[in-house]
Amino acid sequence: MDETKPVRDLPRCRCGFTREHSIVHPEPHYSLPGTLLVLFAGRGARPKSIDYRCPRCGTLVETVTDREVLQAFC
Ligand SMILES: [Zn+2]
Repeated sequence: MDETKPVRDLPRCRCGFTREHSIVHPEPHYSLPGTLLVLFAGRGARPKSIDYRCPRCGTLVETVTDREVLQAFC
């Protein structure tokens, strides 16, 4: 039981990237009020979800709706 394991068991695309890899781009999705806030106030609104997509294989690696992750994103 002393094997070296990844710190967290995150979903991976077929290339083996997790959402924490720099190649994987976050695509934040905002609610309508959040979108307006970003557009007109130039302020960061907390997205309602973030899709992480691998640009190499096009796979949606993970969709994050975790509040703490979203808060850190804005
Ligand atoms: Zn990939």
